[in-house]
Amino acid sequence: MAAVKQPSTAALEQQVPGPRAQGYVERDSEAISPSYTRSYPFVMDHGEGAMVWDVDGAQFIDFTAGIAVTATGHCHPAVVQAIKDQADKFVHMSGTDFYYAVQIELAEKLCSLVPGSEPKQVFFTNSGTEAVEAAFKLARYHTGCSRAIAFLGAFHGRSMGALSLTASKYVHREGFAPLVPGVTHVPYGYCYRCAYNLEYPSCDVHCVKYIEDTLFKRLISPNEVGAIFVEPVQGEGGYVVPPPLYFPRLLELADKYDIVLVDDEIQTGMGRTGKWFAIEHWDVVADITCIAKGVASGMPLGAMVAKKRLMTWPRGAHGNTFGGNPISCAAALATIRLIEDGYMHNAARMGERFMERLKRIQPEHPSMGDVRGLGLMIGIELVKDRDTREPAAELRDAVVQACFERGLLALGCGMSTVRFMPALNITADLVDEGLDIFEEALSEAESAT
Ligand code: PLP
Repeated sequence: MAAVKQPSTAALEQQVPGPRAQGYVERDSEAISPSYTRSYPFVMDHGEGAMVWDVDGAQFIDFTAGIAVTATGHCHPAVVQAIKDQADKFVHMSGTDFYYAVQIELAEKLCSLVPGSEPKQVFFTNSGTEAVEAAFKLARYHTGCSRAIAFLGAFHGRSMGALSLTASKYVHREGFAPLVPGVTHVPYGYCYRCAYNLEYPSCDVHCVKYIEDTLFKRLISPNEVGAIFVEPVQGEGGYVVPPPLYFPRLLELADKYDIVLVDDEIQTGMGRTGKWFAIEHWDVVADITCIAKGVASGMPLGAMVAKKRLMTWPRGAHGNTFGGNPISCAAALATIRLIEDGYMHNAARMGERFMERLKRIQPEHPSMGDVRGLGLMIGIELVKDRDTREPAAELRDAVVQACFERGLLALGCGMSTVRFMPALNITADLVDEGLDIFEEALSEAESAT
């Protein structure tokens, strides 16, 4: 494991944002698009492992990993070395038009890691959105069917195609219609807020049955549906973990009607949940897997990995200039080695540590409605009242802000969830220290309401 500096209390002793950070925030507001979603004024100077420092020297424990991206921590020496070595050789050559070994090696590795014994092939991208876009196009091309099913609460990206599948917050969509037609959204397996007011398992996974019993009978023919797009754990939608039978039933449905099952592992993949891909928690094999975020520890890279028999599109049907950049591929290979050599195991162990502590403190904090997660993808859904489960969005925002002021970076998601997704190599000490800060911040915010 890479050495991770221990935090001091520096961040607690100084006011944040400091003068330098404030200056940058002011300049940013003039020069940068107002559509970005900054929750608090953290202005990064440098990072190491699961620790980051701002431009005024304040130090923070990072439970965000740059939105689940810096899987091996900030500036892991092995990843930095791989980046430098590749930069010395060549920075770019466009994998669409030329060949290079590091891209081929990474494709072979990803094909071996993605679940399922069938041969697979990879299309490389720069981001998660583009990986989803590629999956959307391939599923349409291969099946000849233009309709798709996606889920309420889903986040698949913000380009026109991916945005048409996204349904987590209307602000993502408002003002951009018309989107790509033919996408139908149905409720996800979100048991804490079941759309049908049923209880698992007596519901018999009604949310999946609804697709067959209602949607396919009244609204759309399954013969016209090319793909189902699904996140194994909804990310932006609230860190929602579906119940045990959800994915097996969804796979059964997709297989029955010959629909391509697209597994969006952009946030959940690459060891974050304690397995290479979260869908493995349910022993399910999808047809297409979308990967990005943590795959290259922060270098921009995405991948759409499909069963080879689906890759029926011809030369020129899809491509890009930067996808599979050699430096990103080298960083990904170094990242994968580290995940294999122990970080995935650490993610599972540290995930349990988070859960054990959060479940233990839950009874003392009336606002902690639901605590859920897999590995290092952990959500705490805050509510105004445990019985009514009314979402406590303002409280959540206050907790995230209070964490920042005390030296912990956390983020929100869903209606009122605080999410933690630190580097996979975070140490037990930092988990404990970060959770101390969270608990203090939560108590303060609770008593202020
Ligand atoms: N899919 C999921 C599940 C995501 O969490 C995200 C980003 O948060 C995306 C797709 C879009 O990825 P990107 O922001 O890299 O384009």
